[in-house]
Amino acid sequence: MRAATLLPALAIVAACGDDGGGGVDASDVARTLATCTTTIASDAPAFYQRYFRCVTVTKTATGVSIATEDLPPHPSYYWGAASPSYTPFDTSRGAGYAPNPNTLAAQDLTITIPDAPVAAGVTITPDLVDAEAGTNAAEYAGGPIGVALDSVALFSGMAAPGMDIAEERFTFDNHEGHPEMRGAYHYHRPTPGPLEVLVATGAVTTSVPGSAELELYGILCDGTVVLGCVELDGTATSGLDAQGGHLGDLRAADGTTYFTARYHTHVCADARGHGYTPEIHYYAACAR
Ligand SMILES: [Zn+2]
Ligand SMILES: [Zn+2]
Repeated sequence: MRAATLLPALAIVAACGDDGGGGVDASDVARTLATCTTTIASDAPAFYQRYFRCVTVTKTATGVSIATEDLPPHPSYYWGAASPSYTPFDTSRGAGYAPNPNTLAAQDLTITIPDAPVAAGVTITPDLVDAEAGTNAAEYAGGPIGVALDSVALFSGMAAPGMDIAEERFTFDNHEGHPEMRGAYHYHRPTPGPLEVLVATGAVTTSVPGSAELELYGILCDGTVVLGCVELDGTATSGLDAQGGHLGDLRAADGTTYFTARYHTHVCADARGHGYTPEIHYYAACAR
């Protein structure tokens, strides 16, 4: 009897103890697109107004700043068992799937994107796109290089030095994300997370990568836009480089053009793109 009355008190103490570290509190409601906070400045370009959620977007003199806590607005094993957003790791996806030892935690991340990016002059050939970090100077840096529509960090299509991205993917949850050692949750490949934003805003009817009417994932620090298997207006891709990229206008099906002649890549599990986020920055290096 006595033990039974003590247990709930202990549980509350343990939950409060989470506040300092990850900002994840067991008393919080689950984080979803409906419960997160979105603040987008009225002078920010229409692209951000229309497509981004759970972030704070501000206009700067020469670009846009996206600030994010990098907390996914969807369930994940990596929230940790005390979170209302926790879900068990799904090992039914195939042999080898097992979680990494990290727990996701709130980050203080700001990605700045230039309004008028300048091409770096690199020709993106298959030998440059080797999925290995540290093999040439045109690679994106390790860590966060962009933001997905659902506020999650985008990492490049390379594993940490000494690791293999094809091996790392066995630690991805059902939203194809996982946290690194500091708890920064991130995507490297086609994921339903950003597509759930498109479903919520009525732009598409499914969040299954490869099947949605249009697939937009996010934007990277050098100005590269990351799409899925099709163009922003739903038409087929063509003329892609070794990382699924090419120059083209980003025009929605309603005729709105968000970017003109903008380099973007198609992250797609089949021949309509490249299986991972980009590795080589087409535009001049990112502000760090
Ligand atoms: Zn990773
Ligand atoms: Zn395209």
